[in-house]
Amino acid sequence: MNMLDIIYKKRDGEKLSNEEISFFVKGYTDGTITDYQAAAFLMAIYFKGLDREETYMLTTAMKNSGDVIDLSEIKGIKVDKHSTGGVGDKTTFISAPIAAACGVPVAKMSGRGLGFTGGTVDKMESIPMIKTRIEKSHFVDLVNNEGISLIGQTAHIAPADKKIYALRDATATVENMSLITSSIMSKKLASGSDAIVLDVKCGNGAFLESFEEAKELARQMVDIGNDDGKKTIGIITDMNQPLGNAIGNSLEVIESIETLKGKGPHDITEISLVLAGAMIYVGGKANSIEEGRKMAEASIKDGSALEKFRAVIAGQGGDVRVIDDYDIFPKAEFSIDIITEDEGFVSEISARIVGFASQHSGAGRATKEDDIDMTAGIYLHRKVGDEVSEGDVLATVYGNNFEKIKRAASEMKKAFRISKEKPEPIELIKEILE
Ligand code: URA
Repeated sequence: MNMLDIIYKKRDGEKLSNEEISFFVKGYTDGTITDYQAAAFLMAIYFKGLDREETYMLTTAMKNSGDVIDLSEIKGIKVDKHSTGGVGDKTTFISAPIAAACGVPVAKMSGRGLGFTGGTVDKMESIPMIKTRIEKSHFVDLVNNEGISLIGQTAHIAPADKKIYALRDATATVENMSLITSSIMSKKLASGSDAIVLDVKCGNGAFLESFEEAKELARQMVDIGNDDGKKTIGIITDMNQPLGNAIGNSLEVIESIETLKGKGPHDITEISLVLAGAMIYVGGKANSIEEGRKMAEASIKDGSALEKFRAVIAGQGGDVRVIDDYDIFPKAEFSIDIITEDEGFVSEISARIVGFASQHSGAGRATKEDDIDMTAGIYLHRKVGDEVSEGDVLATVYGNNFEKIKRAASEMKKAFRISKEKPEPIELIKEILE
């Protein structure tokens, strides 16, 4: 078999065999296929596409390029949850403990942030002393004993994706549904869970802006998950304004704890309950997402979800006192308020602008090597639909580096749009695909 023939075949719109797709993935990962041939192949896929079977074959070959985690020592239906990434998206810290409190084992491996959306592992590390890298045996014990553990993804999960993604990024071939699907799902399918809930964001702060594109991605990912024998649900959710009021590492963990105490903002509470309801449903503990959602609500009311989050922190060596005393989180040295000169209603808060401002305040990284400031980020005092008067504080920017937060504050001035008319309420859950 040779790569040139495979490029010709896809360029001419023919269907590839499993052997051909596996040949490409193996050869490109081990360095025997060159960047220029791989780039031509990706561009051929970009224009001619892959059908469902080819996408499944590509996903499987990428999954098998590294470790495939065996979690069979964990009893029950293990459920994973994945978000395509958004600004202020802290739903893992809420939906995962809820699902665990409702009897669904959650063995979750998450990623770090890069660019304008934050990463779950970075956020978690704002909890003093917590470990996000633990031995597999400890991870398995925690899930068996406490029902939950949240850790970082190892470098050995789907190494083919890392190489292919870097090449896609440099060759204008990121925006192809089959390539995105195989990239995300290869990592999910290698992570060892039995069922998956996908939160596919759409809007200006999401990877895919339009509802149609988000739906197509959700459809493809749900198909591939189900083809692999894992019950998979895709939930398309709004990302036109940041989720919740807090953006940035420790700020988001504090807001998550507040939500688990039943005092969270409406949007983050609502989306977390639906995600948790779906996790409880695919985990076999409820007969529908709606029934799962009711169980989720009850676990917040009776405090059992909060106790599961406490168990995560305790099990991974973190300081559990943070649950009751937010002063234990590191505090930002500086803050700048964003004040409005207008009157009316907030009609838009660009999630994209807020995401970049948060990154620039020190909460995120521009390159993999950058350090992040756990105290940095943005707190939104007003959300879409709120009434404002001249002089009101719309948001506060926090951080330990004054120059950085000054830059973030000047960006934040462009994030809000104020209108005379009250806007229509935002539809948080756009569609659920099973
Ligand atoms: N996220 C991924 O992991 N892969 C993609 O291709 C796009 C978003």
